[in-house]
Amino acid sequence: MNRLAERIARLIAAGGPVPLADFMHLCLWDPADGYYARLENIGARGDFVTAPEISPLFGEMVAVWCVAAWQALGSPARFALVEAGPGSGALMEDVLRASRRFAGFHDAAAIHLVETGPLLRERQRLRLSGLHPRIAWVADLAALPDEPLVFFANEFLDALPVRQFVKSGGAWRERCIGLDDKGALAWRLGPRMADALPAGHETEAEGAVFEHAPAREAFAATLARRLASGGGAALLIDYGHADSGFGDTFQAVAGHKFADPLAAPGNADLSSHVDFAAIGRAASAEGATVSPVATQGEVLRAMGIETRAQILKRARPDKAATLEAALARLVGGDAMGRLFKVLAIAGIGRPAIPPFA
Ligand code: SAH
Repeated sequence: MNRLAERIARLIAAGGPVPLADFMHLCLWDPADGYYARLENIGARGDFVTAPEISPLFGEMVAVWCVAAWQALGSPARFALVEAGPGSGALMEDVLRASRRFAGFHDAAAIHLVETGPLLRERQRLRLSGLHPRIAWVADLAALPDEPLVFFANEFLDALPVRQFVKSGGAWRERCIGLDDKGALAWRLGPRMADALPAGHETEAEGAVFEHAPAREAFAATLARRLASGGGAALLIDYGHADSGFGDTFQAVAGHKFADPLAAPGNADLSSHVDFAAIGRAASAEGATVSPVATQGEVLRAMGIETRAQILKRARPDKAATLEAALARLVGGDAMGRLFKVLAIAGIGRPAIPPFA
């Protein structure tokens, strides 16, 4: 057992099994040994590669979306350009570089990064220094200024904790982490589900899994409330599904492979697929306008990624193969193009930008 596993085992010995969501939070955010206390987790040398790490094409399309959203808001003279979960800072770097050429956008923007990890903040600070005169870090949405928001987040929601309920003996019981008879971390079933049962639960077979991520819905609700009151638009990109349903999507990833989540807490990235229907419902309930759920491939194509790749290939024929491969990974149906979904939320009205239009 590593140090964090021992600490979690002591916690369980004292207080009983912990729900999966709490375990996820402990593994990701333990200040000394949690996953986000490590530095090199994102990128080719880390544990997983995200879209901005594949090619600047992705960030350029997000930049175009942000500029279009700002224009749809009437090009306000002051606004907050916000990214949640910036990771290595690659996406914000590409967005700032690509949006510089749009007159007025940089002058009107104040950059805000929603990030809780002190090491990640430092890494982002180094990467983004010199790209914009106003860059600030906040721990949550409540700390954002009272200005219209243009918001984006890639692979952020999947990292917020998820609860799981397993159908067992006809009841839905919470999936927890307890201890086996040797004192090692082991899967356990906890109390019966107290929340409202999901539609269709009666016909699910024994062993079926239902996932519920209250932290994600709360984040979407807070964001939507901000957008509805102060104006703005948000783009949420992540792996997940357009409709709510049943199934176990919890995953641990280390060194670009699936890992056993209980084997070495803090060493693997823990996440689950995002239920975008639930995100959309949480945002709608706050009075915001919610777009249809689109695939990443559809939205990147609508933003003009293929044309942009053509232009770049003509300018740098020596890089054509690399660009072609990056494009295929970002939009391809067998790569990120279909698994990754995009949902947009707007404050007031329905801006004429993808995936609204
Ligand atoms: N968006 C990046 C990387 C995503 S990794 C990319 O596309 O490459 C997840 C990011 O979300 C990390 O920066 C992590 O620190 C941040 N994060 C996770 N949970 C968070 C929370 N509750 N509050 C703020 N940031 C969080």
